Amino acid sequence: FPSRLPQVGTTIFSTMSALATEHGAVNLGQGFPDFDCDPALVNAVTRAMQSGHNQYPPMPGVPALRQAVAAKIEALHARQYCANSEITITAGATQAILTAILACVQPGDEVIVLEPCYDSYVPNIELAGGVVVRVPLTPGSFRPDFGKIAAALTPRTRLIIVNTPHNPSATVWTEADMRTLEELLAPTNVLLISDEVYEHMVFDGAIHQSAARFPGLAERAFIVSSFGKTFHVTGWKVGTVAAPVPLTAEFRKVHQFNVFTVNTPVQYGLAGYLRDPAPYLQLPAFYQAKRDLFRQGLEGSRLRLLPSTGSYFQCVDISAVSNLSESDFCQWLTREIGVAAIPLSAFYGDSFDQRVVRFCFAKKDETLRTALQRLRRL
Ligand code: PMP
Ligand code: GLN
Repeated sequence: FPSRLPQVGTTIFSTMSALATEHGAVNLGQGFPDFDCDPALVNAVTRAMQSGHNQYPPMPGVPALRQAVAAKIEALHARQYCANSEITITAGATQAILTAILACVQPGDEVIVLEPCYDSYVPNIELAGGVVVRVPLTPGSFRPDFGKIAAALTPRTRLIIVNTPHNPSATVWTEADMRTLEELLAPTNVLLISDEVYEHMVFDGAIHQSAARFPGLAERAFIVSSFGKTFHVTGWKVGTVAAPVPLTAEFRKVHQFNVFTVNTPVQYGLAGYLRDPAPYLQLPAFYQAKRDLFRQGLEGSRLRLLPSTGSYFQCVDISAVSNLSESDFCQWLTREIGVAAIPLSAFYGDSFDQRVVRFCFAKKDETLRTALQRLRRL
């Protein structure tokens, strides 16, 4: 039968992780921590299982978790979301994004993505029958180019997807960026998916500018986050969507016939664990130390460091080291040097090669040191 996604193969993250395993390479490719989460969180989930929280929870999620998420957003961004009608617990951010797209994009609707972008966005839009409109972030700086975004808006634009802190470029949108987006969208009915999965990984004193802080954005936004990133549990696949009542209502229509709901004991465990803000408030310092360790280790090498202001990624320019394409370089680096990375071209539709690759520094310090020893040979 005809493929719904004829262009799609295996994701770069699976491919590079498999290659890293095959060659015994240090895996700085796929973004996930190689250290464990807080044992208190495991205990909280274990206790939830032992106390019988093992059947279907309510469709939108365990109420105590939705309340904890609403309280967290209010504390951090001074916006109130109703836990009953505006917060939904999802099976990770990936499901949240697909569900939001399926809920609002009709066949033929245009959806703006800012390239480079996370690899699930484009296939998700295609599954909904939407028309993908690719707007490049400014080459080199990866800053939003609002002139280009404005030029891409048409009466058929239904949705724009924004991601800050940004995967893969590790840039962070400023307050002025968000205000400009708010002004740009003000005269339109365009909806927004604000992918904020790296919300707690911002460095050098930067403040995460959630769409929740901007009334003109919040009123049109599905704000997506992921406990996988925030609490070092990417394998648990639990995320959240905060959106105004009409958007949440449409979101839940799709959600209930997609996953229906999300695993119960993890939600109970997270609900209790979220009462203490310390674990996520410590995250910027925790990851900034890892970023600095990794960057310092590469100083003086021929890999040119790009800025990393947020997320757990560090991009480097490889042009002084190799003439290979990004993609070939990542394969070679994994096989011959023993470190896996992700080519930036994987985040573009047309394999645009700018000689930049992405490393993930969400790793134990000893893992980073082993990788650095190998990378310094380049
Ligand atoms: N958006 C971005 C930008 C991501 O980097 C990721 C994780 N790689 C996701 C969404 C998906 O998050 P989750 O694992 O919660 O599905
Ligand atoms: N978000 C992770 C990354 O960018 C990978 C997630 C996945 O493997 N799908 O590396």
